[in-house]
Amino acid sequence: MVNFVGAGPGAKDLVTIRAYKLIASAGIIIYAGSLVNPELLGYAGSGCQFYNSAEMTLEEVINVMADGSRKGIEVVRLHTGDPCIYGAIREQMDKLDALGIPYTYCPGVSSFCGAAASLNLEYTLPGVSQSVIITRMEGRTPVPEKESIESFAAHNASMVLFLSAGMAGELSHKLISGGYPGDTPAVIVYKATWEDEEKYICTIETLEETAKKHNITRMALIIIGDVLAPARYNRSELYNPYFTTGYREAVKKE
Ligand code: SAH
Repeated sequence: MVNFVGAGPGAKDLVTIRAYKLIASAGIIIYAGSLVNPELLGYAGSGCQFYNSAEMTLEEVINVMADGSRKGIEVVRLHTGDPCIYGAIREQMDKLDALGIPYTYCPGVSSFCGAAASLNLEYTLPGVSQSVIITRMEGRTPVPEKESIESFAAHNASMVLFLSAGMAGELSHKLISGGYPGDTPAVIVYKATWEDEEKYICTIETLEETAKKHNITRMALIIIGDVLAPARYNRSELYNPYFTTGYREAVKKE
């Protein structure tokens, strides 16, 4: 059996119990060496074989999986954060399907959640933003034209940019030309939840100078939006004493 497992954002205790058990019982672990905290590999049993996928092609990864599963070895494919975000898991699953190799999928804490925890941040503040746009600047992987940064910026919603810290200047221009005011709060979070985490609050206008000043080009998220420093926000109706919910009667106004 092959198990796709979310490794969480970095801190070694931010994995699920299921992920921990899968790692502990794996005979082979293929991990994304560029991002996964190597300390997580310490949960593996003795005799486990490790492969760093950063140095492998998709075909090599599949060969290791196929070989392992033919021998009845439990294989863990360890992806940073949650595999559903920029994890390139679909292409692996399709190849495993073609080979008739079964697999499971264990979710993890995505880095955008880890970063929110580090900032005590709620992305969805009533009266400020009720949506989170997760996207990236175009790199080697093209982004569909209808998903341009400018078009998303027009919403002024909370926004999280993966894989874009090295392009902060260009990003800033696109966000502003799309309709975000230049003084909208922004934050760069480097290695969220790791021991050497760094976070820098700035504005959209100062994103590039902030990234350059602290030499941040990778392993970082850029978070944009008024939710970072709201002038005001509304209380939630769910916990409003004068609002009846499925679980609680409203308090009568005097
Ligand atoms: N599946 C992962 C994302 C993989 S794409 C997840 O759910 O988080 C790799 C990008 O994720 C990095 O370039 C960076 O933008 C972001 N990233 C991953 N871990 C991070 C962390 N601990 N802190 C900040 N950004 C992180």
